[in-house]
Amino acid sequence: GEEEEGTTLYKVGIDTTYPPFEYEEDGEYVGIDIDVISAIADNQGFEIEFSAMDFSGIIPSLQAGQLDIAMGGMSITDERKETVDFSDPYFDSGLTLVVNEDNSSITTMEDLAGKTVAVKNGTTGALHAEEHAEEIGYEVKQFNDSPAMFQEVANGNADVLMEDYPVIAYAIAQNDLGLQIVGDRLNGDQYGIAVLKGENSDLLEQINAGLAELKDSGEYDEIMSKYLAE
Ligand code: GLN
Repeated sequence: GEEEEGTTLYKVGIDTTYPPFEYEEDGEYVGIDIDVISAIADNQGFEIEFSAMDFSGIIPSLQAGQLDIAMGGMSITDERKETVDFSDPYFDSGLTLVVNEDNSSITTMEDLAGKTVAVKNGTTGALHAEEHAEEIGYEVKQFNDSPAMFQEVANGNADVLMEDYPVIAYAIAQNDLGLQIVGDRLNGDQYGIAVLKGENSDLLEQINAGLAELKDSGEYDEIMSKYLAE
């Protein structure tokens, strides 16, 4: 971060095509992640500036020193822990299969044999798809953002996609996407806020202290119900 009038300014990398976590509304960034990190910055007394990018660019930008904080409905994974340090978890998530609403032939990973699977670059969904592609026998198509991936299955150009359950459930509830969630969840994971590994332990402590304060004060629950109330 840079010092500005005595207050440290941190650059936060975000994926702004990821409602209800991060998106743009009337020219403003809004969503669960935006509110959570803004509230942490308030209670810990630092400034933040958002930098929007494709999800796959967030960790590389952190490593390149262009960001101080990475947030983007980002799942805490062992692989990522090799390059970043994560805060305490702030949201439970996990992957699900999603198909066109006219499709009744896919409910499990095994049903993907011979199919085309749409995923988003650099995500846990992409990783899950790549891990099983050879064994089950399907083609993987990469997209840079979630809306493009959704469109591909809605158009019938791919048979199925993998996305975080809370994200696709929200998208389907908000818009008539022509998509449906099928089968059991593929895994369970949790979202965390990331900083560069080993370089930023003070900032990480502040983030964790801020998060704990939000949970204690009830502000965390208010943010969740603001975005997730039916
Ligand atoms: N939670 C998923 C991941 O961490 C997807 C995140 C996203 O698409 N913004 O890879």
